[in-house]
Amino acid sequence: MNDLIRLNNLTVTYERHPAVHHLSGGFAAGSLTAIAGPNGAGKSTLLKAIIGELRPAEGSIDRGALTRNDFGYLPQAADIVRRFPISVADTVMLGAWKNAGAFGRFSLEDAERAQEALGIVGLSGFEKRHIGSLSAGQFQRVLFARLLLQDARVILLDEPFTAIDQRTTRDLLELVLRWNREGRTVIAVLHDFEQVRSYFPETLLIARELVGWGRTEDVMSPKNLIKARAMAERWDEEAETCLPEEEHEGGELAKREPAE
Ligand code: ADP
Ligand code: MG
Repeated sequence: MNDLIRLNNLTVTYERHPAVHHLSGGFAAGSLTAIAGPNGAGKSTLLKAIIGELRPAEGSIDRGALTRNDFGYLPQAADIVRRFPISVADTVMLGAWKNAGAFGRFSLEDAERAQEALGIVGLSGFEKRHIGSLSAGQFQRVLFARLLLQDARVILLDEPFTAIDQRTTRDLLELVLRWNREGRTVIAVLHDFEQVRSYFPETLLIARELVGWGRTEDVMSPKNLIKARAMAERWDEEAETCLPEEEHEGGELAKREPAE
């Protein structure tokens, strides 16, 4: 199999409450996958686990020979602080951090690449602007420019187009498709099903547990979408991990029976 990243019975918990539960499957090298599911379905948690920010409570993630530097990650907007007094150009150049050498200096080449990346996302001339002065769409363009500079093999995007204007969304979707044509593996959490169907050949549909994973047209069926919603509604937020007692005292099943 040519899976670049494999999830093996992955469970990720917060204080022993599972947010991702017994998830197995793989992302093929060079694939373009949407992650869809109701609010609270564990989508953001899964991305954080894939980049290694959260550790599995059970199961594992097989990343083969990939290292942290192979991953480019765009967190959900709510997780990004924009009050730092930092310029557009410096924000983009942070994407070149791994190239910055032992003394953390940026090269002239980095600066040129940052300028080029800003050109690609349509923000030439914005270099000196404070990031706090940008619109949501412009700021998202800056973060995509940073990803361009990072030149990562795997790119993870968490709701990159939520609350972003249509024009910016269209432009940045083009960039996503370009990354995929370049052979990069792209995984994006999306809430707009039309976007998923139009642009993403593969979909992982989750409601903490797996609902479907494969070709988008198969996975995003009305039946699966209804199932995902029902699973999310009957999930018990207070449920604890179902790990065996010797690992976690008092293990319980994580799901309530559906109400009749
Ligand atoms: P999604 O991105 O699909 O909306 P999340 O992965 O953000 O879902 O959240 C899944 C579940 O984990 C939710 O019940 C959420 O409240 C919980 N959760 C997310 N982040 C934390 C956290 N930092 N601490 C505790 N619980 C969290
Ligand atoms: Mg989320």
